[in-house]
Amino acid sequence: MPAIRLFDTTLRDGEKSPGTMLTVPEKVRLAAQLARLGVDVIEAGFPAASEAQFEAVRKVAETVSGPVIAALARATNPTDFDVAMRAFGSCARPRLHTFLPVSPFYRRHFLKRDFEATLELAQKAVRVAKERCGDVEFSLVDAFRASEEDVIAMAKVAAEAGATVINIADTVGYAIPSEIQKLFRAVKAALGDATQTALSIHCHNDLGLAVANSLAAIEAGAVQIHATINGIGERAGNTPLEEVVAVLRTRTDRYPWEISVNPVELGPTCRLVKRLTGISLHVHKPVVGAHAFVYETTVPQLGDESAQPPYQIMDPRQFGLDAAKELLA
Ligand code: MN
Repeated sequence: MPAIRLFDTTLRDGEKSPGTMLTVPEKVRLAAQLARLGVDVIEAGFPAASEAQFEAVRKVAETVSGPVIAALARATNPTDFDVAMRAFGSCARPRLHTFLPVSPFYRRHFLKRDFEATLELAQKAVRVAKERCGDVEFSLVDAFRASEEDVIAMAKVAAEAGATVINIADTVGYAIPSEIQKLFRAVKAALGDATQTALSIHCHNDLGLAVANSLAAIEAGAVQIHATINGIGERAGNTPLEEVVAVLRTRTDRYPWEISVNPVELGPTCRLVKRLTGISLHVHKPVVGAHAFVYETTVPQLGDESAQPPYQIMDPRQFGLDAAKELLA
């Protein structure tokens, strides 16, 4: 069965969670745990943004092996690519991640260029990145408030310029699953079967749809999901990685894709992120909330205590959670 790749952006987009500031050693520690968890890609930061981010990417690239290490770089500042490459050092699997807005709202606000000029910029940026790094991911920002025509045009330009991954971002958490599927099918058809470019989805949880939207995307041809541990991120956060894994492991009947993540490491990883960020979890949060496996519906006289109760669709132990209350500690 084809595999779904998990792109963890806890250290980059997740760190935009209000009040969150991880030190370089904390980021290195978390990256090592993400490698143990088995994510396919760790986005370690945005090296051109600050000395601390540069240092975090440099240290993660130097010490963490296994996953691809990605770093963010602005398409509008080509020197960002050189800064990121310096941070990568001799990293075995570096990926440059660059981005441009595609919706008129974001283009007007952040770029102040017309669409033709934005396309030229996309082509130039991906080419410059590609000269420096074999693996280039290009993100279309705010894609679900743009026209399908514009999304396809930008995806084509980036793919033809050599992007290995095209990431379609619901930056503002606005999309619904049927729209996600329609757009991914259209982009996939436009790029054609011959393309080497993989499609990816990046969601935010403003309407509580990040997990549903991510799964809708993989049903329509995406092979990579951006996510963060505990769903941390700005506003209502990003797609929670542990919830995506829980669905893919629980509903193998409908979602037969392979994943490289070891679910038993989810509990320890979620606990580490909770501790390092100080961000507490809603008690009813799926998978890792304190009440996620607490039941009150049982009628003890009728229950067969020797069997797995029928209301339990997942065993907390499969996620490395020994006791339901563990995350409260
Ligand atoms: Mn985002």
